[in-house]
Amino acid sequence: MVEKMRAMVLSKLAPIESRPLKLTPIDKPTIKVKNGLLLEIEACGVCRSNLHLIEGDWKKYGSPSSLPLVPGHEVVGVVKLVASGVKKIRVGDRVGIQPLFSACLQCEYCLARRENLCESAEITGESVQGGYAEYISAVEEFVTPIPDTIDSEHAAPLFCPGITAYKAVKASGSGAGRTVGIFGIGGVGHLAIQLAKMQGSRVVAVSRTKKHLDLSKKLGADSAIVYQGSQVQFLKNLKKEEGLLDSAIVFAPSDKVIDAAIRSVKKGGVIVLGVLGNVVDFPTFEEKIVKGSVIGTRKDMADLVKLASSTGLKVIVETHRLSEANDVLARLKKSEVEARAVLVP
Ligand SMILES: [Zn+2]
Ligand SMILES: [Zn+2]
Repeated sequence: MVEKMRAMVLSKLAPIESRPLKLTPIDKPTIKVKNGLLLEIEACGVCRSNLHLIEGDWKKYGSPSSLPLVPGHEVVGVVKLVASGVKKIRVGDRVGIQPLFSACLQCEYCLARRENLCESAEITGESVQGGYAEYISAVEEFVTPIPDTIDSEHAAPLFCPGITAYKAVKASGSGAGRTVGIFGIGGVGHLAIQLAKMQGSRVVAVSRTKKHLDLSKKLGADSAIVYQGSQVQFLKNLKKEEGLLDSAIVFAPSDKVIDAAIRSVKKGGVIVLGVLGNVVDFPTFEEKIVKGSVIGTRKDMADLVKLASSTGLKVIVETHRLSEANDVLARLKKSEVEARAVLVP
């Protein structure tokens, strides 16, 4: 008989207020591939993407690929079993899994070391079972070992908001002498502020809520500007306080915010989108560049974990029980989570 585990299972896409995740005993995962691992989960971050998936916003993109599903894609656990073909990872190692659960390692993107763009990538908690559970399976090549200096609750958010922030900041051309705007402060934005500061940029945080702007200041943002309602007023404030930006990074899922970010950078400037959204009325003759960014590669992941363990990168978390996932997601929907919520089984 297959052993059981507890998991928060989604059987039907529905608004989070209707509590669609149910704590259910389901079969513990088994290892099916020769480079497979079984992890006992210690922490799993709660992501806005999980909310979109649960509420059906991503049905049009074919996600989730099937139901019932265990969501959750920023997962840290201890390796309990390894398959015969596993080479480097050992039982007892603590590792993290990012949204990129696996990739083919053979397509043109994988061969160019851009496996986050793989045509046949599997996504944790979307096309394969995720981390709102006690156990998860994984693939050796796609897990990242975690040093003892970072505990599991603080490590979990590195595996989605962390890597998303890291790659977007890199794509923005952040560096000494440059001013970078971070639009949307939360799980991803609070890390992006710190990563851009580490590279020597001047950082301007932009958010709707005072709570998130206060947090930005605490984390080292040089200025924090509220954006509510009028874009004209916002741009006036930005020009008065900082002048136009060299680049902008958007983590707020809003067409209006994307538009404001495009108008906040100088001619020829760069706008990095870390969220889905529409660009409307693009000012072509200003020669600005809009770039998309999605999670990151295995190398980005390993580099970020190393950076986090050797610097003072502050990952701000609040910890909850697995059974509280519906409540946590409902609070996230209302922008009530300061930075990142993490579930502990
Ligand atoms: Zn995420
Ligand atoms: Zn591939």
